[in-house]
Amino acid sequence: MRHAPSLRLETDVLIIGGGLAGCWAAITAAQAGAKVVIAEKGYCGTSGVAASAGPGHWFIPPEGTLRRDAIARRLEMAEGLGDADWMETIIDRTFRTLPTIASHYRYTQDDNGKIRYHALRGPEYLRALRQKALDSGVIILDHSPALKLLRHDDGSVAGATGVSLKSELDRWSIRAGATILATGGCAFRSHLLGSSNNTGDGLLMAAEAGACFSGMEFSAFFTIVPATTTMARTMIYSFARYYDGAGHELERPASPHNNHFLAEMLRTGPVFCDLSRVPDDIRSQLPQISPNVPLTFQRLGIDPFTQRFPISLVGEGTIRGVGGIWVTNRHAGCDVPGLYVAGDVASREPVTGAISGGGAVNAAWALSSGCIAAESAVVYTRKQRRSLKEPIIPSPEYETVTRDHKAVERAVQDEMLSPHKQYFRTAFSLEKSSQALEAAWQQLSGDTVQNTNARAQLRQHELKALAAASRWCTVSALARKESRGIHYRTDSETVETPTHILSGGIANPWARSVPVKAFS
Ligand SMILES: Cc1cc2nc3c(=O)[nH]c(=O)nc-3n(C[C@H](O)[C@H](O)[C@H](O)COP(=O)(O)OP(=O)(O)OC[C@H]3O[C@@H](n4cnc5c(N)ncnc54)[C@H](O)[C@@H]3O)c2cc1C
Repeated sequence: MRHAPSLRLETDVLIIGGGLAGCWAAITAAQAGAKVVIAEKGYCGTSGVAASAGPGHWFIPPEGTLRRDAIARRLEMAEGLGDADWMETIIDRTFRTLPTIASHYRYTQDDNGKIRYHALRGPEYLRALRQKALDSGVIILDHSPALKLLRHDDGSVAGATGVSLKSELDRWSIRAGATILATGGCAFRSHLLGSSNNTGDGLLMAAEAGACFSGMEFSAFFTIVPATTTMARTMIYSFARYYDGAGHELERPASPHNNHFLAEMLRTGPVFCDLSRVPDDIRSQLPQISPNVPLTFQRLGIDPFTQRFPISLVGEGTIRGVGGIWVTNRHAGCDVPGLYVAGDVASREPVTGAISGGGAVNAAWALSSGCIAAESAVVYTRKQRRSLKEPIIPSPEYETVTRDHKAVERAVQDEMLSPHKQYFRTAFSLEKSSQALEAAWQQLSGDTVQNTNARAQLRQHELKALAAASRWCTVSALARKESRGIHYRTDSETVETPTHILSGGIANPWARSVPVKAFS
């Protein structure tokens, strides 16, 4: 049975996803005088991965050679995939913009009385962004996930449709002059804190509209958590020592993000962590920066600074991985007219390179790309001035659900959330993953039953997105035959010239390498 959309709106700029990137985009577009709507799957102000974190930003003053030095360091780590000009843009934008929420956010000072602009308390930060967006005139639709982009006859994006989870069966349809995707990365439902909505929906919508991806192979990112929890914070683990079940200390690599050795050890037995080397100032700041970290240990009855505790690894996929929608120009566009991208849904290769941007760069990217996408969207919509009466391609209905959801999700997770499969990739293991994921994909288009329930439609869309994202990650990992950054092949070939791996396709996922070139 087909239901007419129950809510119809028209706006200049539609933003899909109200996390860090979406909120900054909304504030920027509204302050430029545009009519703005955010459609958010959860509750804007508490959803998205930054809301439960303590996001640090790449926040570098223009003095002396500070920026030049920071960019040089990042370019070295980027392993040939970074873009110095783009990095400069992101740093400058973040530095100028972050302090503008002082009206809504209480910054703290460091020991020298300097305002700590770069490190924010996630819950208060996101609440402040929501309030600032509302004060700027933004309309926020909470619990309103988007499922499909609307398109004009010429293929340009004309808004989106979705469902409202507050009232079953309710659908919404928003015609927009320009649309920004800010739906975050995809953690394959690993239970990473704050990521339950990060199911790759925006990636699927973008692919359906004709966009492609880059860097999806850089999705092998796993974070240490106290065993049986999802408390994924990386900072304190820079000081960690690790022990096997017999109490022997494990040799750890220099890079704090390289957890391959833990994946290897966890295959054969428990691994214990010792945080006794965490400096006193960090211990004392922890309750302010990340109050939920000490709380987790309290609940476990563990003093992490004096007692060893068992750990495990939680998958982050493309969240603190790198890949996403290929950003094709300096306007945060993706070669689909009317569609702009911001934050983790977009590929961060030019700013983070082949390694994770977690810790500072990602948050700066989310903020800056949000602002840039918003400005571009406003210019686009003012230039186009398309009639709202123009026909749009009707969006296909999601009226079917497969009989066995869990099997598809499990199949995706078996491949994408196995630290061993992701950390130690070979052509053989990746081919096997591809086959398993293809079988899961086939289940989605197989046996179906009728269902018009809003949650079931969302669930169907999420499953499709999870399966599609896992296939793009896998074909990309197969196409990058070398080891580079967080993509590690045990059967690595030597490739002299760095390339990007682009990917796309829905029924038949593809991947190919292209030369690295500066943005136009
Ligand atoms: C534990 C943790 C700590 C981190 N700490 C740092 C740090 O210190 N420094 C740093 O640089 N980076 C850090 N990061 C990364 C940083 O938080 C992210 O890069 C940033 O939050 C990305 O913002 P985003 O808006 O793109 O995505 P998100 O914050 O994930 O927001 C995406 C939003 O889209 C919504 N959404 C999803 N699908 C739909 C749909 N179909 N329709 C509508 N809405 C939808 C979601 O509900 C969510 O609100 C951390 C990440 C984690 C997981």
